[in-house]
This record gives sequence, structure tokens and C-alpha cells, in this order.
Amino acid sequence: MKFIDLGLDPRILEGIDAMGYENATPVQQQVMVPILEGKDIIAAAQTGTGKTAAFSIPILQLLSNQIRHSKNPRALILTPTRELAAQIGESVTTYGKYMQMRSTVVFGGVIINPQMKKLRPGVDVLVATPGRLLDLFSQNAVKFNQVEVLVLDEADRMLSLDFEQELNELLQVIPEERKTLLFSATMTSKVQNGLTPWKH
Ligand code: AMP
Repeated sequence: MKFIDLGLDPRILEGIDAMGYENATPVQQQVMVPILEGKDIIAAAQTGTGKTAAFSIPILQLLSNQIRHSKNPRALILTPTRELAAQIGESVTTYGKYMQMRSTVVFGGVIINPQMKKLRPGVDVLVATPGRLLDLFSQNAVKFNQVEVLVLDEADRMLSLDFEQELNELLQVIPEERKTLLFSATMTSKVQNGLTPWKH
């Protein structure tokens, strides 16, 4: 499957082209069309398979269908580590480079104030680790009322890093009408059992 056949916004295709990608990887072939159709998905995918683009590109497309800069994020991507968060942030910037898409990355282990400041002007796509996101939410630095798509990236690692409580708290306050895209390297019983309250 070629990216050009997906009916993507030409500005996204330009971003993909700048990366030199032409053909979708297997995980991209499996999930991109359902995401573009607005479906929830659960996918087993390891790092290195192209999973970041598999969710980033359709999310940009979904957001581009309706240009509406919001104060609060329309897409929220949760991931377990700051390295992954930074990497996802770069992908979103790369594929969305020719669009007016504002994205920000927030993670724990650093002081919170600069992140609060970054969020103030508004953001379309927010990439975050769960603990820091919950802190920012508790301090009113971000609201979830406009979230249309939620990505749970590396769900198994988020659970093994003890983010379960934070995830459950976040899922209580993120609107239920959202789409949920879940990626996990392994589909352990913990991920699958843990999935139940995340479904809507
Ligand atoms: P990820 O699994 O998201 O960490 O991606 C692994 C690597 O594959 C990254 O360096 C991506 O830039 C690259 N990549 C993603 N999609 C494609 C594609 N369709 N063709 C070639 N490389 C890709």
C-alpha cells in the first residue's frame, strides 16, 4: 500500500515525501485505514515497525479535516518515557510540517513551569507521559474537553512502569466520545484486563 493511495491531505503527503517514505509498513497497512474511518483500534506493534507514523499520520489527517485551532488538545498521545515522547513529538512535527498544526511534548523529571507556559497559547496535538499530564491537569494547565483522539502507546510498558493509576485517573476525565488507539508490543493479560475500563 502506498501513502499516495490513502487520500491524505497533500500537505501531509509532502511531509511523508520529505522523509522519503513511499510504501506503508505492515502495521501502517493494518491500522491507517481503520483510524481514518474513525474506528477505535488495538494493535500489537513493537518499536521499529513504523507504529509512530501509523497513528501520527491518520491523526493529522483527522484533525486537518476540520481546521479549528483549539485552546486545548484535540489529540492526546500517552507514552511511557520521555525518550518516546520526544520521538513521537518529532514525528508529529515532521509529518505535520506543512500544516499549521501545533504540537507539544511534556514529560516528568523536569520542572513543570516551562511546560505550563508552553501549553498556554494552545495546542492541537499533545504528547505526554501519564504522570506529568495528570500533574498539569490538576494544576489547570490543560483541559481535556476537546480531545477527539486518544493514543495509548506502548500500553504494556505504561502498565509495567506503574502508570496504571494515573492512566485510570486520566481516562475518567477524558471525554468518552473520543476515539481510542491502543498500541502494545505485547498483549499480556495485564494489558487485556487493563483494557476493559479503557473501552467505551
Ligand atoms: P517506529 O516504529 O515508529 O519507532 O518507527 C521506526 C522507524 O521507521 C523510524 O525511523 C521511522 O522514521 C521509520 N518509518 C516509519 N514509517 C516508515 C515507512 N513507511 N517507510 C520507511 N520507514 C518508515
